[in-house]
Amino acid sequence: MTTAISKLAFTSTNEAAPAVDLREALLQGQAPDKGLYLPDRFPTVSQDELRTFRGMEYHEIAAAVIGKYTEGVLEPKLLAQLCREAYDFPVPLEHVYDRVHVMRLDQGPTASFKDFAARMMARLIGHFIAEEKRELVILTATSGDTGSAVASAFHGVKGIRVLVLFPTDEVSNRQRKQMTTLGENIRTVAIDGKFDDCQDMVKRAFTDSALDAIPLSSANSINIGRLIPQSVYYFYAWSRLTKDMEPLVICTPSGNFGNMMGAVFAREMGMPVKRIVVPVNENDEVPVYLRTDRYSKIEPSRACISNAMNVGNPSNLARLAAIYGGRIDAPGNVHRQPDLEAMRHDFFAVSVTDEATRATIKSAWEKHKLLLEPHGAVGWRGFQSYIDEEPLGDLPAVVIETAHPAKFPEEIERTLDLSPDVPVSLSKLDKLDEDFDRMDADYDLFKRYLLANYTG
Ligand SMILES: *Cc1c(COP(=O)(O)O)cnc(C)c1O
Repeated sequence: MTTAISKLAFTSTNEAAPAVDLREALLQGQAPDKGLYLPDRFPTVSQDELRTFRGMEYHEIAAAVIGKYTEGVLEPKLLAQLCREAYDFPVPLEHVYDRVHVMRLDQGPTASFKDFAARMMARLIGHFIAEEKRELVILTATSGDTGSAVASAFHGVKGIRVLVLFPTDEVSNRQRKQMTTLGENIRTVAIDGKFDDCQDMVKRAFTDSALDAIPLSSANSINIGRLIPQSVYYFYAWSRLTKDMEPLVICTPSGNFGNMMGAVFAREMGMPVKRIVVPVNENDEVPVYLRTDRYSKIEPSRACISNAMNVGNPSNLARLAAIYGGRIDAPGNVHRQPDLEAMRHDFFAVSVTDEATRATIKSAWEKHKLLLEPHGAVGWRGFQSYIDEEPLGDLPAVVIETAHPAKFPEEIERTLDLSPDVPVSLSKLDKLDEDFDRMDADYDLFKRYLLANYTG
């Protein structure tokens, strides 16, 4: 069969929904069978093309990598322009010792790695709905970082209104201000409840036929539009840290496993990877699964100081399992075991306690002058466990720091007696006015709020 343009097809991890193209996968978010979209094959980056990345800037690598997924749905020229706009900030690779680097994904407008995906996804979705003259209401629940990254990324995008629900007492002042000071097409509601309440309200709204008149869409980490851009920084790290076709050791502190899935995508596309280290906090369901072959989610999730990783049933486990031939659904039922032996070979999963996280903030600073916030400290500690078991030799390694230390200063101040420098993106928030609504954790109230504000 020959076609003029080879569009990539996206299928659901639940295996019971029709295949769609990237545009539909992005706009739908979740597949109709409640599974998650994955490309039915991974596009490849040849060794020659990989070599060219060494001389390219970040946004150029982004256009090259993402372009393999957007073929047939987006003009390469336009994609290049969107990448230039989205990635207008530095991506520091901090040398720690030997060939070990920490990649700081914290220079975007909300100072966490979520900016990388959210800024690209906002531009892609904004473009697709403008083409179709459609409008969307992006509804998202957040425990802090997702909501701010999504709100910032969609701020000012035509045709899109964003509504973020956050738990009143569970987000930091800075995280709240990142969402509540934007205005225009961004609206925020503080829910007097827990993050789980916010998420339940959002989930119910998506399945409530009384709200069919509102074009609701989700922008959380289940959207394939979040994962594809998250493979780009692994290619970038590889292009800067390796020689020839050397494999890279990658270490990504994880919660919902969206960030680490970016590394899996890069590897599936042909980037040489030695092993992917996935440290988690005390929510250890994935390391236990790989050790025992039995998956059992943790409910409710355990509250740790690396709070953006307090996930007891990672949504991207469905995707990871699918890549290894298995099928796991959203509630965490294993319908078909993935190839666990292959997963143990490819991944090193390890749980890090809060106590060890605090000790690591201290030791990384004292030993290497490496300043880490709790999520990055989980990563660094997990990396130490990995090299204890499988020494690096002279291979290069990259450990991901997912947020700016000034975003989570409390533990650093407690442990190190120093205050991290505050980047402008965060300090300017102090002077801005906040605007948000407040609501009890009551679905009927929320439904009336949606109908009042988003119909007609
Ligand atoms: C969201 C987040 C994580 C976890 O990323 P996943 O893709 O869910 O694994 C880690 N650190 C920070 C700072 C985050 O905001």
